[in-house]
Amino acid sequence: MTIFQETMYQGHAQALTVEETLYQGRTDYQDVLIFRNETFGNVMALDGVVQLTDLDNHVYHEMMAHVPLTAHGAAKDVLVIGGGDGGTLKEVLKQPVDNAVLVEIDPQVIELSKRYFPAVSAGAFDDPRVSVRIEDGLKYVANADRQFDVVIIDSTDPVGPGEALFSDAFYANCRALLRAGGLVVLQSGTPFFRPADLDQICRRLGVHFGAAKPFLAPVPTYAHGQLALIAAGPSAAALCPPLATLDERFAPINSRLRYYSPQVHHAAFTLAPALRKSVTAD
Ligand code: SAM
Repeated sequence: MTIFQETMYQGHAQALTVEETLYQGRTDYQDVLIFRNETFGNVMALDGVVQLTDLDNHVYHEMMAHVPLTAHGAAKDVLVIGGGDGGTLKEVLKQPVDNAVLVEIDPQVIELSKRYFPAVSAGAFDDPRVSVRIEDGLKYVANADRQFDVVIIDSTDPVGPGEALFSDAFYANCRALLRAGGLVVLQSGTPFFRPADLDQICRRLGVHFGAAKPFLAPVPTYAHGQLALIAAGPSAAALCPPLATLDERFAPINSRLRYYSPQVHHAAFTLAPALRKSVTAD
């Protein structure tokens, strides 16, 4: 048995035992390591950073998809940037959408995810509503000739191929392809470590979209276990509608979800700012 030591980030990293290495290699874009851990099941790391595990990926994927889609309430066209493991896409398809476009730069992440994490995408890539584009998300949004109701940026961290997906040029192009009332969600670090980064990205997103709020996804193998996602849209109210409104939209898919609920939606938007506020000045 060996130990996987994650890439150090802001003076902190996690270690996981490797019961069995399932795949190790470099694609045209990043290092890929897939291994089995006795607690988390199969684990995928890209450039030394954990991207998903069998055990806890559902929390992240459900929050990335159902917070914006349940808040929006009438999304028909959804864009997922990144998300090559198919988990977010699978969750999007549980909602009454007409089309989902997934733009993933690295085709090998899709192939390896289908092979080692079949339950994560669970056939989502073959759904007739889905079109998969193997392309840089930055280029796609700059040239897109269609509009979307929700954009989900399920990328790696702002290093390597994911870096471009945290730029103002990218956000401006995402804004241009959003319909009126459209929402954007992205993963963005943690409220605990360097919370000023979280404040700063919320401010930048607010300039592009109108309002931006962090919400919490407790994922043990991400960002110290307390990942902040950010939702952006025309107003703060649009990101977290009243419970009664969310309940109505949630009822048809309730039985298919494991974590997300309207109560979790509201709690997530309460916990992230509370955690942020609890961290003293940097
Ligand atoms: N859940 C993970 C997280 O929060 O870190 C993200 C998982 S998903 C595997 C991240 C995906 O983003 C990877 O498949 C990676 O190839 C893709 N990606 C990174 N940069 C990209 C870009 N510029 N355009 C499209 N996809 C990109």
